[in-house]
Amino acid sequence: MTKIAVILESDGHGVKDSVHAALTLAASFGPVIALTTSPAETVLDTCARYGAARIITVTGPGDLSLRPDLRATAFAECIKAEDITDVIAIHSMEGKDTLARIAVELSAAFVGDCLGIDVAARSVKKSYFAGKVLASLGVPGEVALYGLRPNALPAMEKPSQPEMGTFTASVEDSTGAVTVIETQGGDAGSADLSEATVIVSGGRAMGDACNFAILEALAAKLEAGVGASRAAVDAGYAPHTMQVGQTGKTVSPNLYIACGISGAVQHYAGIKTAKVIVAINKDKDAPIFSKCNYGIVGDLFEAVPELTKALG
Ligand code: FAD
Repeated sequence: MTKIAVILESDGHGVKDSVHAALTLAASFGPVIALTTSPAETVLDTCARYGAARIITVTGPGDLSLRPDLRATAFAECIKAEDITDVIAIHSMEGKDTLARIAVELSAAFVGDCLGIDVAARSVKKSYFAGKVLASLGVPGEVALYGLRPNALPAMEKPSQPEMGTFTASVEDSTGAVTVIETQGGDAGSADLSEATVIVSGGRAMGDACNFAILEALAAKLEAGVGASRAAVDAGYAPHTMQVGQTGKTVSPNLYIACGISGAVQHYAGIKTAKVIVAINKDKDAPIFSKCNYGIVGDLFEAVPELTKALG
């Protein structure tokens, strides 16, 4: 019998927004168990809004939020004890790490970066070859682990009254090899780029690292992340953590604003699942204009500050 769980992931403000879509998706297939290492009360509001039937707080030796390997072992114990068959997490750094470790613990199949998940049919949709192929894959085994690409699917509220419980894992501290000592923020604007709902990116046309300040000013108004093309990264205008595209981050924001980016296939591969693409380019024949929803033919050094000003 299918039994679905979603592994919750939190940031400094509570459960991450991108987890809402995972809960929404899971709830469309049946009752959902939300697995967390946080006290249930702290995630109750989110779980009750997005249709979870139960919340299980998994505990073990010490603070599992700082012990990735112990946390995964503890989740695996809980998944086994509860006879959970299908586990969804977001395809974030933490989600990938956790699911991969659980896959080893349970000898289960793990498919990451899914654009769609059909738990009932045990199949997923994934993109390959720089987004040119959308493949449906079957997921075998008693337990299936899925990583859902952030922002790939919408979140929809479905009020519920989750039961709250705890699971104490028997995993021993001596088996833990990894402890998180400190978490440092990334470069300004680039944090969680693959989970950002709005992104402002700059290309080679930025001409200098300092000029990214105008993108950061616009991003601040839109609560957006800041990205870059590979040409901008290779020129040293932005760090690789900000690179979007085939060899950078794959993003699925609701709004992507490409400033001075020509629209090469390798860049487009990383943004093609964005809901709305806006391009600012002074060449009216730039390839990006055949791939965007809205285009501004003009100088980004005029258009971007104008947009920022217009946003108040
Ligand atoms: P350009 O192509 O040089 O375009 C600059 C654009 O800015 C032009 O269209 C120009 O008209 C416009 N412009 C100039 N001045 C202004 C101005 N003042 N105002 C407005 N517009 C202006 N690229 C990525 O981005 N990400 C990847 O992950 C990636 N992976 C790759 C992997 C491989 C294997 C290969 C071969 C390439 C990869 N590339 C990737 C590189 C890609 O092919 C392009 O070279 C790159 O995307 C170009 O970056 P760009 O658009 O910033 O620069």
